[in-house]
Formats: sequence, C-alpha cells, structure tokens
Amino acid sequence: MKEKTLCVHAGPGPEPTTGAVNPPIYATSTYAYAEFGQHRGWEYSRTANPTRVALEQAVAQLEGGADACAFASGMAAIDALTDLLAPGDHILAAHNLYGGTYRLFTTITRRHGVEVSFVDASDLAALEASFRPNTKMLFLESPTNPLMAIVDLEEASRLAHQRGVLVVVDNTFLSPVLQKPLALGADFVVHSTTKYLNGHSDAVGGVVVCKDGELGAQLHRIQNSAGAIMGPFDAYLVLRGIRTLALRMAAHEEGGRAVASFLAQHPRVVRVYYPGLASHPQHELACRQQRGFGAMVAFDVGSLENAKTVCNALKLFTLAESLGGVESLVSHPATMTHASVPKDEREKLGITDGLLRLSVGVEDPEDLLADLDRALAAL
Ligand SMILES: *Cc1c(COP(=O)(O)O)cnc(C)c1O
Repeated sequence: MKEKTLCVHAGPGPEPTTGAVNPPIYATSTYAYAEFGQHRGWEYSRTANPTRVALEQAVAQLEGGADACAFASGMAAIDALTDLLAPGDHILAAHNLYGGTYRLFTTITRRHGVEVSFVDASDLAALEASFRPNTKMLFLESPTNPLMAIVDLEEASRLAHQRGVLVVVDNTFLSPVLQKPLALGADFVVHSTTKYLNGHSDAVGGVVVCKDGELGAQLHRIQNSAGAIMGPFDAYLVLRGIRTLALRMAAHEEGGRAVASFLAQHPRVVRVYYPGLASHPQHELACRQQRGFGAMVAFDVGSLENAKTVCNALKLFTLAESLGGVESLVSHPATMTHASVPKDEREKLGITDGLLRLSVGVEDPEDLLADLDRALAAL
C-alpha cells in the first residue's frame, strides 16, 4: 500500500457494532465481565483500551512493526524502554539526543544503576569502539536534534546486532512517512506523538513500535505495570492526525526545503544545518536512508544577541519549544530545549549561542521566506 493510503486506512477499520468509520473514544476505566470468571477480552483501561489499541495498531502498521504501545508522553515511552534493562547493563547513546532524553539518561536511568555513555554515532568507527561487554541497548536519533547530523542506521544496527545489542531509533523528526527505521534494522522505533504524528500541537503523547512480537509483549507488561498510558481522548486525536500525516509531511517538506535554501544564500546567516542541502556533509546518506529531508532546519546567526533579535522580529514563527505542528515555530536550543545540557558539553556538540532551530509548518513558503527576510534585516 502506498504511504498516503496507509495513513488513511491504518488501524482496525470501521467499528463493528455500528460501522462508525472512526474509532469511538472509549471513555471507560473498566469493562463488564460476560459472566463470573470470564471477561470479554477487556478488563481495565490501564491494560488496554480500544481507542488506544486502534492508535497502536495504526502506528505499528505505518512503521512496519509487529506491535506498539502508546504512552502519556514521548519521555514516558523512552523511559519504558529503559525498563527492559537491569542494573549493570549499559546503554550506548548518540551524543546529541533530544535534551529531555539526555536528562532522563543522565539522571533517572543512571540512578537506577544502568550505565549510559554517549558517542558521536555518525562516526561509525567511534561507535564500534564504544560498545562495552555489558551494552544491551543502542539508542539513536537521526537526524539529530538540533544539528541535523545523520546516523547510518543500517550500518549502526549491524554493528549492534553483531554484539546482541538492541537498537532503538527515535524517529520523531521524520515520521514513518519519511523514514522507516525498522526496515533499516532497528528493533524499536520511538516517537513523541506530540510532534508530527499528531501534528496539531494539541496533545502530548508517545509511542514505541516493536519489530518483534515477544519484545512487544514485554513492553506491554512494563506499560501495564508502570502505568504511563496514553488516554483515549489523546489516542483519538493522534489517530485523527495520522490520517493527514502524508499530506502534511509533503507540505512540511516543501517548506523545509524552501527555508533551508533561502537561509543558505543569506549573507547574515553563518551556517545552515539541513540534510536536504547538497552542502550537508551527509547529504548522500540522507538521500539513501530517508524518503525526504523533513522540515527541521537549524541555522547560526553568530551570537546570542543576534539570535534574540531574529526571534523577536519573526512574526509567523512563534518562539516556542516543540515541533511538528502545522504552525511554524522557532526555538533557541541553548536557552530552551538544551538548557539542561551543561554549557561546555553543549558547545562541544556545536550548539552555539547563535543557533536557532526552526520547525517549518505548512504555511505558504513564500510568506515564511518573507518573514525570515524581514527578521534577518533587523541584524
Ligand atoms: C519532543 C521529543 C521527545 C519527547 O517527547 P514528549 O512528548 O515531549 O515527552 C523525544 N524525542 C524527540 C526527538 C522529541 O522531539
């Protein structure tokens, strides 16, 4: 099935009792037993809820996985994955992860006795040298946040699997429409559904997709025990968002390319980070591994003062954290999404004080370019 069709039809299909084409929002915490000792397949909504299951099936199909679990947030989804590990195990993680994931790993996960180390996963030799005998999980993002470096997911997965290490890919930045990590070798895909999957900036959520049914069952047991489930109202919203995901990603992509090309030729812009530019050092890898380049664009305007001026002058790009909604946003990673990463660590990664990150929405690109042009003229 083609992507646009899959987005519209993924999930269980019309509800059998009434034929409702959309899954009802099952606002129920519990389910009546058919008779003593015999439930009807549904017991309690922490364990399973039909609206949540409809979303989980849809995302599993979109990513080509066997099963999925929907969580209360992207961070809850990532945290549940760390519960697959035991004290003494080691997570090898890519070095410029989403700031919240870095915070989770370096505070909570480590406190629970799981070792975590970071490596530039775009450098395959460095990656290979960083596995330890007790490494159980490789945690990757591609493109990375916010510098848009690409990790060779197929090669990284191969290196991990040679050592019996499970591979997790956070696919939030591209969505399953533009990248399918399971097909490239990953064992798990994680999404903050808050971003492109929902797409309308009106609900926080997360999902993990598992390639393998047994690991999926294990994750459902963790979710049922720890309880960080997505509620049925939010599951409904995310599923509704998925229906237009392919259309939205095409519009995001058009805007992302236009904005990146515009910034790349602007004299006030020091540097642009976007895998769709031929000047991006891993452009060829992005072409091979992705079905598009997405709509996340980072650029450097040279200083904190300049970054502040540009943010204040922009009108269509709202200064806010988050990404992946229909509206364009701008953020300043050093003081916002990556404020929890220590300054020296941040600068080593290239997250300078002059760096701005755009989430290009689905507005007409001409209007977005005019807004950027006006804001940059203020420098
Ligand atoms: C937002 C985000 C997360 C965290 O998701 P929440 O829904 O905010 O908890 C994880 N990874 C990436 C890449 C994100 O952008």
